[in-house]
Amino acid sequence: CAKSEGRGTYRYFEAALAVQIRDRRTLEHDLRQAIGRGEFVLLYQPQMEVDTGLVVGFEALLRWNHPGRGSVPPDRFIPIAEETGAILAIGEWVLRETCREAARWERPLRVAVNVSAVQLHSPAFAQLVQDVLAESGIDPVRLELEITETALIRDPARALATLGKVKALGVRIAMDDFGTGYASLSNLRAFPFDKIKIDRSFIHAVDINRETAAIMRAVLGLGRGLGLPVLAEGVETGAELAFLGAEACQEAQGFLLGRPAPIEEFREHTRLPADGARARAA
Ligand code: C2E
Ligand code: MG
Ligand code: MG
Ligand code: MG
Repeated sequence: CAKSEGRGTYRYFEAALAVQIRDRRTLEHDLRQAIGRGEFVLLYQPQMEVDTGLVVGFEALLRWNHPGRGSVPPDRFIPIAEETGAILAIGEWVLRETCREAARWERPLRVAVNVSAVQLHSPAFAQLVQDVLAESGIDPVRLELEITETALIRDPARALATLGKVKALGVRIAMDDFGTGYASLSNLRAFPFDKIKIDRSFIHAVDINRETAAIMRAVLGLGRGLGLPVLAEGVETGAELAFLGAEACQEAQGFLLGRPAPIEEFREHTRLPADGARARAA
């Protein structure tokens, strides 16, 4: 009896695994066609200067509108795209699309783009950035590439060489999700970062949690010592923002300041004030 039960359990897991594998194969297949079918969209989330309250840039965040599944979050499909190599075409589309969009803004705000480890280790990446900048005509300093620490470790020498080439174009580099990867401190010294984006797990309840506050202050001190501005991700409450102001954190991003949304919803920031508004102000 025990034996047949074990067999049944085994069959059950085998079947569940088969379903998972099939599901994943379908996603892989659909992912390859998604660009051509126009299923990707970019949402933009504002980045704010803490002491002035001004929007100084936007981070582009990718969404996949799957015909059958609805909106698939990046955490679900980016890892698959990285394993299959589809991320190279997807990442190229994201870069091209964001630079083209930023070129339309009347205000020369910054645009931040997430770059995957696979892109960073592709020999063609620096040339791609150069081409996209030339096509769009945006000032290279407006483009910020967000790179996680984990993306550096596959082949640090190669990552460093690519970042060097990209920086030579005038593009800025931000360390994304700081504090969640490996060997954070030596990475800050070894790679040419222009900004630290501290992971949102260190902001959550920073106003009431002593340990969280201590870590946040330490990262801000590190940023000051290294001459790197710090952006706090995932700011959700006024109390968290007030803490950042009191501790002289340079920039903030999070649901409190704006959820990722189509860029049209932020036209007041990307455009100069309309003539009417200026006349009223005068
Ligand atoms: P990330 O680059 O660290 O992006 C920040 C994530 O935090 C976004 O999730 C954003 O929607 C979310 N977020 C922002 N403010 C808040 C907040 O106040 N509270 C909470 N709980 N969450 C907040 P999203 O859009 O789901 O993206 C997840 C990750 O997927 C990104 O993390 C990034 O690593 C990756 N990703 C997104 N777009 C791209 C892309 O175009 N290319 C690549 N390679 N990766 C991307
Ligand atoms: Mg990011
Ligand atoms: Mg992040
Ligand atoms: Mg992240």
